[in-house]
Amino acid sequence: MRIVVPKEHTPLDRRVAMTPQAIKRLASDEIQFAVESGAGFGASFTDDEYRDAGAEIVQDTKALFEGADVVVKINGPVKRENGTDELELIPSGALFIAQMRPHENADVLQRLAERGLTAFSMELMPRTTLAQRMDCLSAFSTVAGYMAVIRGAEASSKFFPMLTTAAGTIPPATVLIIGAGVAGLQAIATARRLGAVVEAFDIRPETKEQVQSLGATFVEWEEATEDMQTEGGYAKEVSAEEEEREQQLLADHIAKSDIVITTALVPGRPAPKLISEEMVKGMRAGSVIVDLAAETGGNCELTVKGETVERHGVLVLGQTDLAASLPVHGSLMYGRILSVLLQHIMDDERRIVIDLDDEITTAIAVTHDGNVRYQQ
Ligand code: NAD
Repeated sequence: MRIVVPKEHTPLDRRVAMTPQAIKRLASDEIQFAVESGAGFGASFTDDEYRDAGAEIVQDTKALFEGADVVVKINGPVKRENGTDELELIPSGALFIAQMRPHENADVLQRLAERGLTAFSMELMPRTTLAQRMDCLSAFSTVAGYMAVIRGAEASSKFFPMLTTAAGTIPPATVLIIGAGVAGLQAIATARRLGAVVEAFDIRPETKEQVQSLGATFVEWEEATEDMQTEGGYAKEVSAEEEEREQQLLADHIAKSDIVITTALVPGRPAPKLISEEMVKGMRAGSVIVDLAAETGGNCELTVKGETVERHGVLVLGQTDLAASLPVHGSLMYGRILSVLLQHIMDDERRIVIDLDDEITTAIAVTHDGNVRYQQ
């Protein structure tokens, strides 16, 4: 079986789908890896390291894809600057694995199906115990939560820790994290490590203990009950009235925070609007909002997707590239995730089996057998 690792050609993304470490784990007589020359360069992995791990390094793009049984990428297929269309090069019948963003790429899914490819979309991995080690969204949300604090600290004009210096005592920065899921919990831990005083809020009551165990204060809301979460443990969408009362609850906490990091998400829904323009006006000049939900409309009314804007003296960061911003560790995590997934779908003879009765395969297979399986 030939597994192909192309170089990513998505702007600002220096990650690679498989690291030499991940390849070493799987390479054998039955499983050969072909890696595009320079694929790992942006994440600091050299061609020689891939060769040492047992991979063949291929310069020519056409030759790379030839005979591929599996193609693994971070991002979906792209048309490269030189005109090469990756989708056209993947041999019919092969398995393509990437983060496909299926909700916005119906045309790509259609073309993959027409070409007879099976495609796995990694974002659709269920958040279950069995799938935990294959969950790339959680891995990249960990990166994003960490980086949100780093970017917030950089944009702030204050120290995070309390300092006692000859020039006087400096109080610690105050940080509020809204949404205590994967990214939020990592943001809390990171802000605490930097010495800030941290408060956090979530509508799922079970997060209280997790927030407190990281050394942050949980903002209590009597309306936040078990009814606000699904059986699967996700938050439900709050009504417009509840959203307004939540804003009232958070307004004072936001006003006294130096940095607010928002991560509130209900899967498949636009981001809840939790910070209004009025609330931003109530913040001290020089304060910072890092809105991780910028991609899905933003938790703050003033967020501009992909940009940093200054509004009423407050910096509002709406960057959407945070998951890609630690290419070394991001690639190491993704590579590990892919090697677990590939092992999960291999039979005893180390051949890939697409078994739609398998709970992982059926959740992530967006195209198979000439059909688009993904439904919005
Ligand atoms: P998650 O599902 O683990 O956490 C989201 C949390 O928001 C949950 O705990 C949920 O209970 C909470 N929530 C939902 N509605 C709320 C409300 N009304 N008030 C308060 N809390 C509420 O998701 P995650 O993996 O931590 O991702 C968080 C966000 O970060 C998502 O929007 C995701 O798309 C985004 N993200 C952004 C980047 C980037 O580069 N900007 C990268 C990765 C993830």
